[in-house]
Amino acid sequence: MAIDLMSVAGWMKDFATQIHDNADLLTDLDREIGDADHGANMDRGMRAVIDLDPSTFPSAADYLKKVGMTLVSTVGGASGPLYGTFFLRVGTAWPDVENPDLVGLALRAGLDGIIQRGKAAIGEKTLVDALSPALDEFDANAGDGMGTALQAAAVACAAGRDATIPLVARKGRASYLGERSAGHQDPGATSMTMLIEAASRTLS
Ligand code: ADP
Ligand code: MG
Repeated sequence: MAIDLMSVAGWMKDFATQIHDNADLLTDLDREIGDADHGANMDRGMRAVIDLDPSTFPSAADYLKKVGMTLVSTVGGASGPLYGTFFLRVGTAWPDVENPDLVGLALRAGLDGIIQRGKAAIGEKTLVDALSPALDEFDANAGDGMGTALQAAAVACAAGRDATIPLVARKGRASYLGERSAGHQDPGATSMTMLIEAASRTLS
């Protein structure tokens, strides 16, 4: 079962590795349109997540909620509360049976939490521009099973990330740059793509 506690812990381990190995890239992207801390922020948070012992949690849902709380308390900036809220909401809705439609609903609850907190709409050059099209593709492919749905989501997420490059930022620190934020890839959309690509490797 790909949605069980150990698989979900594997998802977090894979994501933590991607963040750690690409921390400099994330920080460099954030240096161009922000304050050069996105890699360090996410790496600090995911190291704390990896220190959690998954076997001490009664369910994948409880583990995911703790991941969210851990990120809220260890990652500073905008991304800590946003990723933290994502995992809290995903954990609250995470199913205990392998059903792609229910996993899709849980992931969407996470996106809704990000939007409630950060108030970003599509096209404002944030991680929402990667996650939102990813979940649309997940839903469109859920009938073909978790593997197909997650693979389609990962491709759409990367396309959404790349599509942030020409956008002018309307939310977060990058928005202070106005038109000068165009021509740079959004750091949060970049880390979000690592999360969905990790899901596609570990949950299918
Ligand atoms: P900070 O901007 O506080 O330094 P980070 O550098 O860790 O925080 O994260 C920056 C990323 O957070 C951005 O690239 C963007 O994707 C995301 N972000 C910032 N503000 C918002 C928001 N209001 N809604 C959604 N995502 C946001
Ligand atoms: Mg920053």
